[in-house]
Amino acid sequence: MSRVYNFSAGPAMLPEEVLQEAAADMMDYHGSGQSVMEMSHRSAEFKAIIETAEQDIRELLDIPDNYQVLFMQGGGNQQFAAVPLNLAQNGVADYILTGQWSKKAAKEAEKYLKVNVIASSADKTFSYIPDCSDLPVSEDADYVYICENNTIYGTKYKTLPNTKGKELVADVSSCFLSEKHDVKKYGVLWGGVQKNVGPAGCAIVIARNDLIREDINPITPVMMNYKITADNHSLYNTPPCYTIYICGLVFQWLKRMGGLDEMKRRNVEKASVLYDYLDGSDFFHGTVTNKEDRSLMNVPFVIGDKDLEKKFIQEAKEASLVNLGGHRTVGGMRASIYNAMPKAGVEKLVDFMEQFEKANR
Ligand SMILES: *Cc1c(COP(=O)(O)O)cnc(C)c1O
Repeated sequence: MSRVYNFSAGPAMLPEEVLQEAAADMMDYHGSGQSVMEMSHRSAEFKAIIETAEQDIRELLDIPDNYQVLFMQGGGNQQFAAVPLNLAQNGVADYILTGQWSKKAAKEAEKYLKVNVIASSADKTFSYIPDCSDLPVSEDADYVYICENNTIYGTKYKTLPNTKGKELVADVSSCFLSEKHDVKKYGVLWGGVQKNVGPAGCAIVIARNDLIREDINPITPVMMNYKITADNHSLYNTPPCYTIYICGLVFQWLKRMGGLDEMKRRNVEKASVLYDYLDGSDFFHGTVTNKEDRSLMNVPFVIGDKDLEKKFIQEAKEASLVNLGGHRTVGGMRASIYNAMPKAGVEKLVDFMEQFEKANR
């Protein structure tokens, strides 16, 4: 068996140890005589799986007791609607636009409340994070919304915005569990799991108790209702059981490794291999203009010649380095190097880039 290094932005690589554990559990999960895919979501086995998963993510992120952890279906895009539906009280929210995902979130929110865009980096193709230290936050804003790591453009907030006392809501899909988030600084943070945590099928929402309200927009579908999800411990209906189970195995993998500080140390070391090479090359160019805004997870770069870029992506694939094409809206290349990408994968990519540069410059 030969596995490839998968640089996809999502669904993405999972830790090999986790895949092996899942394979070993496949035919007979812990003596139950069945796989997790087949068992009742009301069974004692699954109850233990979801409760342990919640406990483990609470430990990994030091989630305070006054926050709930919700496993919700519908992925990231569903949260674009769930956030305004659950949080609107005054019917106003401030959005900071740093890429496609915050733009989409703002567009969806506009169906349910008044959206004010209080900062944007659209002027330079989202290649930086705007200064968010003194923004014109709306007096009656129910929340200030950000996408913390911009999967497509490869930027990340290194300092959270000054929300002037308003609730911060963050989409952390592509940096979830890559390092510690200081949960108490957010009203709500949420992430689709298929980027850095597990297989597609679930978004994990971490929300403070007082923001999980009964008196919300009455059109809110049951499946997007934070209060109903919380009251039912994410088991209102049949949840994506297998996805939750794999997320749980990933949480245990992270704990065995030493937790999120160790994960961050590895991610910094790994990303440096690629960034150092890009900084020293006059053939490949990173597209993020401010170095301090660079993501540890998604690294977009270009050659500046479309034919060469196409050739690069094709030849990389032949060398088992797959999914290096940039997002369809920006082109070029992008290496997503999430938690499960080993350092050896990034080193192999850099070796390949060196050879490609020599052969094609
Ligand atoms: C992928 C992604 C999304 C969309 O997630 P889906 O589960 O496909 O809806 C939203 N936000 C960010 C930051 C992402 O990377």
